[in-house]
Amino acid sequence: MKVAKFGGTSLASAEQIQKVGAIIRADASRRIIVVSAPGKRFKEDVKVTDLLIAYGQGILQRGTAEAEKEAVLSRFQQIMEGLGFPNHQKEEILGDLNKALRSAPKDRPERFLDAIKAVGEDTNARIVAHYLRLLGEEAFYVNPWDAGFYLTDEAGNAQILPESYDRLRSLKERKGILVFPGFFGYTPEGVLVTFSRGGSDITGSILAAAVQAELYENFTDVDAIYTVNPRIIPNPREIQEITYREMRELSYAGFSVFHEEALLPAYRAGIPVCVKNTNNPSAPGTMIVSERTLNGNPVTGIASEQNFCSVFVSKYLLHREIGFGRRLLQIFEEEGLSYEHTPSGIDNISVIIREQALDRAKEERIVERIYKELNADHVSIERDLALIMIVGEGMRENIGIAARATSALAKAKVNLEMINQGSSEVSMMFGVKAADAERAVIALYHEFYGD
Ligand code: ASP
Repeated sequence: MKVAKFGGTSLASAEQIQKVGAIIRADASRRIIVVSAPGKRFKEDVKVTDLLIAYGQGILQRGTAEAEKEAVLSRFQQIMEGLGFPNHQKEEILGDLNKALRSAPKDRPERFLDAIKAVGEDTNARIVAHYLRLLGEEAFYVNPWDAGFYLTDEAGNAQILPESYDRLRSLKERKGILVFPGFFGYTPEGVLVTFSRGGSDITGSILAAAVQAELYENFTDVDAIYTVNPRIIPNPREIQEITYREMRELSYAGFSVFHEEALLPAYRAGIPVCVKNTNNPSAPGTMIVSERTLNGNPVTGIASEQNFCSVFVSKYLLHREIGFGRRLLQIFEEEGLSYEHTPSGIDNISVIIREQALDRAKEERIVERIYKELNADHVSIERDLALIMIVGEGMRENIGIAARATSALAKAKVNLEMINQGSSEVSMMFGVKAADAERAVIALYHEFYGD
């Protein structure tokens, strides 16, 4: 049995849903289908989830949001018309949609917004199930509450409760094709909660783990995961096979093909993941697996992410002071900041954090506390940093990767602010000025892929 998840662009219009129908029917083992809300049909289009958020915010702020509601209804109406739904069916689905919007609980704004957001996935799942039935398939919409898809009570950022897996396992016994809405579930008390944005990937991974699927297919709008961001290098090489660990490192640094939290359930259950293109389903896609044979190139992918900053602290004989690191990080903890990396030298240490977490007031407080509480000689903050990661299982067995990378960066006149080789040895990270980031990625791509 396979679990197949279709993302927003795969379900953005009637034509796209027709492609999805053909994909599902082409393989009888695609038995659990997870759907996102309709996404963008073209670059300037708005995702249904964003239309729903605008509607929810309108209601919370002004008590009414007729235009926003109309925008949502018309997207679904167009889809159903394009799929040739009979009138009574359209009315039933739109009636349910209206009811869900009306009955969203208003006691807490964040819960209200979650209930509104979920309408996109829920309605789309009903539509896809009905469309499959029109095609003559035995297909059923599955409600996450009925299936026991229980999540923690964290609106907009929920997590699966471990006991859900046992209940979800029984989906395996159900007959026909099951169409499951992604992105949301319920607390055991029955409150609707969603994952963070893009969370339908997580739903698919959880279901694949629960039913011990042979494969979790994640259908999107690219042929594969690329070795580098195609916005920086046009037509980059595709990745055929990548390990969970490599994927994890790359998504940390900005690879956005697959939701960061979605790997864990599949990884724990040892379910391989295949990223495929709804618009070109015969392309083999990218397989994410636990082990792979190394194919000669030590570097599997290059990622970069901006908006980091570094808090640099120096103090003479710092390395002899027991507890210095702990006390330094405690200041960050008490200021509610999570840190990303802590490269260090003999008399100095830097704490890398995400820039948006550090406002000017916090910055001043932190600098003052480090001087006062740790008697630092010097503290300075550097903003506008980018982190570039090169990732590959093959790096562990190859000598000279760092030398190749740094000399490529030197040739491209990129000044390195920081180098960090992950303890796992499958990644190497370079801190550079944000303005140099693109040049750095291009230089590394040419070095390791030679084209
Ligand atoms: N529709 C939701 C979002 O746009 C979830 C998803 O598509 O995965 O974030």
